[in-house]
Amino acid sequence: MAYPTLPLDAALLDRLVCDSKDWAQSHGLVMRTREHKDKSDICQTAPFALLPSSFPRNLYEQAVGVEEDMNLLYFLVSWDYEFIKESLAEVVETDEFTRRLMDIYTEVHKEGLAQTKVVQIQRSDYMCHSSPDGSHSIKQVEVNNIASSFGGLGELCTKMHMATLHYLGFDTEKLAQSIPENRCLTTVATGIYQAWLAYGESNALVVFLVEDVNQNQLDQRHVEYRISEFPDRRARVERLTLTDCAHRLELCEKTKVLRLDGKDEVAVIYFRAGYVPDQYKSDLEWAGRLKIERSKAIKTPWIGLQLANTKKIQQVLAKPGVLEKFLPNNPEKVAAIRATFAGMWGLESSDANTKTIVDEALAHPEKFVLKPQLEGGGGNFYGAEVANKLTKLSAAERSAFILMERIHPMINTNYLIRSMQPVSLMGCVSELGVFGYLLGDGASKAIDQNHVGGHILRTKAEGIDEGGIAVGAAVMDSPYLV
Ligand code: ADP
Ligand code: MG
Ligand code: MG
Repeated sequence: MAYPTLPLDAALLDRLVCDSKDWAQSHGLVMRTREHKDKSDICQTAPFALLPSSFPRNLYEQAVGVEEDMNLLYFLVSWDYEFIKESLAEVVETDEFTRRLMDIYTEVHKEGLAQTKVVQIQRSDYMCHSSPDGSHSIKQVEVNNIASSFGGLGELCTKMHMATLHYLGFDTEKLAQSIPENRCLTTVATGIYQAWLAYGESNALVVFLVEDVNQNQLDQRHVEYRISEFPDRRARVERLTLTDCAHRLELCEKTKVLRLDGKDEVAVIYFRAGYVPDQYKSDLEWAGRLKIERSKAIKTPWIGLQLANTKKIQQVLAKPGVLEKFLPNNPEKVAAIRATFAGMWGLESSDANTKTIVDEALAHPEKFVLKPQLEGGGGNFYGAEVANKLTKLSAAERSAFILMERIHPMINTNYLIRSMQPVSLMGCVSELGVFGYLLGDGASKAIDQNHVGGHILRTKAEGIDEGGIAVGAAVMDSPYLV
């Protein structure tokens, strides 16, 4: 059985679209609507690719193979306060959000951390880059250690694609060869559950820190429900906003125990918010965040990891000798990680090389992406905007951005299905995210668990710059290994 020939015949296309939408609705592969982000009364099929998109097997295996080391790397970086402080020194001069996060890190670092156990839920994102000579290589777009989303919908999307290919005649063996097993929801839920077990209080809560409203609330719910399904002991989950945390969580100054409404102890805080400035509406929310960081609850991520996860640190890690500092005597790990890096350049006013790279970007903006210290899609500059923005920024403001080599992802064709929209075959590009979790202790640097499992593929029409599903650019997909 081979991958279906495209375009599909009209009757078959219609059948597959209808079947897939039914599958998605019956299994919860759905999202709230953009118009009613606050209600699940009306939900729509999450946008998805009708067929899984081709992805080179060797590059998929490379991305999965390096995830354990990538997870370890960010764990080690997060605990190196001096490195983070120094790397972000110029960023915090003009980037108020990063500065406030750094202030919290400084405060808990000085006070001494009440909790050194951490669980890190990571999703490392890659594109399959096509070089002009026709060769392909994997290039890391970024790593996400906060609010790494789509674990819930990603696992379902792969199941849906398996059902589609099964209908098209793939047998079990051929399916297993072409579509890698995808347990990304299990990975995310297990990470949180293991943190809850590590805390060691069976009555204590898991708090999901969430936004006031989120179109993707049901992806979070899938994680919540999976956590409560572990057979031995059920963890209770409570959803709170940063404002709720500020008002309703109490920190005992003596024991550093965090309690909700003066009653239930909080074991784990899982952040699905807190990564962009507008989620901290006032000083109250910042005080809530500080309270959490000072407590003995296990955070995923803790403040050090969130800062290790900035685009600036990603760029600094790509500088010569930096990976070696974190992974000494480990040339294989260093080489495996470095092999995934795209070109990245800092724009510090104190760096003599900044002028050269800025001149290059002004002359050839199409070769670069300009990135601020933001998450969640929508913050980057592409093409002519790179040059426009660079010209507008002062030298001090520029230091808070990085320049990244523009990746040219491999092009496939697929049908991108959106609720109530017409269906057409189009050129598409994909971004693979590999999930893992790490449970470790920052005091001893001991790693209890470092697990890699599951992935998402996000696919968008060729020629669209931004990448997120949340920002409406991409759809859910799964890799079809070739
Ligand atoms: P965020 O944290 O906001 O998701 P990303 O670095 O992942 O930021 O950028 C958002 C999207 O922009 C990516 O999903 C990808 O589609 C696109 N993008 C980012 N970096 C590059 C790059 N170097 N080359 C091409 N596209 C990129
Ligand atoms: Mg991203
Ligand atoms: Mg990100």
